[in-house]
Amino acid sequence: MSRPDPIREKFLRFFEKKNHTIIPSDSLVPSGDPTLLFTSAGMVQFKKYFLGENKGLSRVVSCQKCFRTSDIDEIGRTPRHLSFFEMLGNFSFGDYFKKEAIEWGWEFLTKDMSLPENKLCVTVYKDDSEAYDLWKQIVPEKKIYKLSEKTNFWSMGPTGPCGPCSEIIFDSGEESGCGKKDCSPVCDCDRGLEIWNLVFTQFDRDNSGKLTPLPRKNIDTGMGLERLSLVVNKKKNVFETDLFLPIINELEKTFECKYGSNKKNDILLNIISDHVRAITFLTSDGVLPSNEGRGYVLRRLIRRAVRQAKLLDYNEPFLYKLTNKVVSIMKGTYSDLYIRRENIAMITKLEEEKFIETLDVGINMLNEMIEKVQKTKKNTLSGKDVFYLHNTYGFPPELTEEILAEHKLTYNEEEFIEAQKSAKEIAKTSWRGVKVADINVYNKFGPTEFVGYEKFSSESTIKGIVSDGISVDSTGENKTAEIIIDKTPFYAESGGQAGDKGRIYSSKASAEVTDTQKTPEGVFIHSVKVTKDKFSVGDKITAEIDIEQRKSIMRHHTVTHLLHKALREVVGGHAAQSGSLVSPERLRFDFTHFSALDKRQLDRIEDIVNSKILDCLPVKIFYTELNKAREYGAMALFGEKYGERVRTVMVGGIENEPKTASSLELCGGTHISNTGEIGYFKIISESSIGSGGRRIEALAGKPAMEYVRRSEEMLNELCEMTKSSRSDLKERIESLNKSQKELEKKAENLQRQILSGKKAERAEYTIKNFKLIVQKIDNIDEKTLRSVADEIKNGVQSNSVIVVLNQKDDKMSFVIVATQDVAKKDIKIDSLVKEFVKELNWSGGGREDFAQGGGKTVDIKKITAVLKSLL
Ligand SMILES: [Zn+2]
Ligand SMILES: [Zn+2]
Repeated sequence: MSRPDPIREKFLRFFEKKNHTIIPSDSLVPSGDPTLLFTSAGMVQFKKYFLGENKGLSRVVSCQKCFRTSDIDEIGRTPRHLSFFEMLGNFSFGDYFKKEAIEWGWEFLTKDMSLPENKLCVTVYKDDSEAYDLWKQIVPEKKIYKLSEKTNFWSMGPTGPCGPCSEIIFDSGEESGCGKKDCSPVCDCDRGLEIWNLVFTQFDRDNSGKLTPLPRKNIDTGMGLERLSLVVNKKKNVFETDLFLPIINELEKTFECKYGSNKKNDILLNIISDHVRAITFLTSDGVLPSNEGRGYVLRRLIRRAVRQAKLLDYNEPFLYKLTNKVVSIMKGTYSDLYIRRENIAMITKLEEEKFIETLDVGINMLNEMIEKVQKTKKNTLSGKDVFYLHNTYGFPPELTEEILAEHKLTYNEEEFIEAQKSAKEIAKTSWRGVKVADINVYNKFGPTEFVGYEKFSSESTIKGIVSDGISVDSTGENKTAEIIIDKTPFYAESGGQAGDKGRIYSSKASAEVTDTQKTPEGVFIHSVKVTKDKFSVGDKITAEIDIEQRKSIMRHHTVTHLLHKALREVVGGHAAQSGSLVSPERLRFDFTHFSALDKRQLDRIEDIVNSKILDCLPVKIFYTELNKAREYGAMALFGEKYGERVRTVMVGGIENEPKTASSLELCGGTHISNTGEIGYFKIISESSIGSGGRRIEALAGKPAMEYVRRSEEMLNELCEMTKSSRSDLKERIESLNKSQKELEKKAENLQRQILSGKKAERAEYTIKNFKLIVQKIDNIDEKTLRSVADEIKNGVQSNSVIVVLNQKDDKMSFVIVATQDVAKKDIKIDSLVKEFVKELNWSGGGREDFAQGGGKTVDIKKITAVLKSLL
């Protein structure tokens, strides 16, 4: 048996021997490409090389983590579809081409993987005679299938780089085909398994559709590790390979079932084992369950997996345990998984628990909906309602359908689809509120040179002006606009650091810069409010940031690095940064941890950070290679993508010995040059942000000092208000609290005494053989009203009905109580009160021996008369 790890390793070594550089897998979260939610192919991280924008590497090989949701409905039902998979690929950027790609592909499969030649066949694009002739040297012509553009021609988009592809297919033989007369390895059925796709990118397509040969031709290949493992190990489906089997075995134990004994159950187990791998890797790459974007996809996956378990009648959280299984299978290749295993399990568990609760809520809501529909004697539920359940509570429509079927009901699917469509419209991918398509308005001006690491101002030229999303020649007077310049000292919001503010001016005009953002392609956008005259494209200007503000940002940024380090020291290495915000006023730091930090921990963090400030440590910036930085132990952000050369911020430590640093972090932000400049650090809050995340808010420099001053002022005010000194303020407040409570008690007693003493307003009547007591009082609260009634009751012992009336402005409330013996005999207070309030136009109700209510003020004589008439 050839285990997956050696297959992966053999592949990389094979191409390394052919002078390829091994590039580690990129994160599942691609950066710099807002059109992509997830890394879906090995090529994604090489896009720049591919387009010839980045030279230097011409042959690379990788095993890339990939995630796709396009086949989600097929997963588990077919032997080969997966959401998360690993893609083996070799790439050539303007170096070797078809001949080598084809020959090496064949060599690797037949020699290194020992796949039988007679089981393999290939496809080529129908017009690609070059590929056909190359394959002819290797395999018999009858094994070369010419296919159409649909399957064998690749393009990046409607225009741009494109080219034919060639696939290597594993033929599992006629006997496993569909049996049709024309069944072949390229039939639609499961007979042939595409294992390796070779893309020959050789053309550039223009607007008219014309193909021009590219000066630099590229090779881009992709082979699913899971599929390869399947054929190498002669398995029937990917779930039987070593990548999945340990997960399946664990599921067999959890659900007490046997894999392979029931087709329907097998599908459920397949789906869960696929999803749990995706969940583990996505979480490890920094995705947290949420209601939008990537987080939503993750949430859907978790819910989908939990839902499969529900179909197996399993209602407990289980996925989180399985993530450990995934970690143990994959940690050899992806060491990050092991480091983050606790976070992954915790995040999964919280989400599972939440969903199981949601399912219960959903079922209750659905039951109510069903009742309503049944009352109206209809048999169709509104599609909008089903969508609401789905969208708001994540209640799966197929589950709704099942439950409805039990009641012989259905729902309006058209309405459901309609509701879904309009929700999708709203949720369409956007970039800071700008539709992706519109980003080109900015990008056409080309990247901006950033000079703000060294300088606070620059002499620049205006390259473009954008107003309301449209490129214009000049700004209006006193108008807002977005200005793009050739070089800028303004830092654009990124990595959690706020964009700079400041001003832009020329000899005649000036404008305030209110914010700076940048597109993923590196175009800086300065939002301005013109204050004098106007600006035009081509103007020479001075760009000047607000220095005080920037300095405050830099203090907060550098101290964020110190906080990150101190946090890990105090709560543990699992406390990884999951987000941050650095502004002139404060900093916010989000991290993964599962319980509140106590006072002692927060104090320790504060102390560690402040001691680094007192030590006046130098802050040095240097550039190095990503691998080197990792070796030094530099902290990198959860799920962040870094280039080959990385900017590293080092605090303290011995010159040229990064390992000795107090903090070492990959970061593109701006920093002060010595920790002494931070002045002072103060944590002001620590709270939960859900899904296993915590948030610390803190201040540095002036805002920290102001905070302390404000706290001090408040303390002084308190001393003044309580007329005490600081040293006995605490005692003073304690004694105030105590006497407050005593006073309240006294007041209550007094009130009661006064009330019971107000005999004057009490009338007593004898009716039949019991007493009716009517007591009227004014302006007391409802609680006291009841206790007055009880008090009177206790005083009279037996044979009495007591009515207490309380008047407040034009409203009157009442309480009626009766002694036990009366209630037991013929007078039921609850039925009495019904008539009583009806006569007076009041409202109220009660039990056999007690009632309350009220309404508009009514004359006491009338009330008494009504009572007498009813008894
Ligand atoms: Zn077939
Ligand atoms: Zn930073």
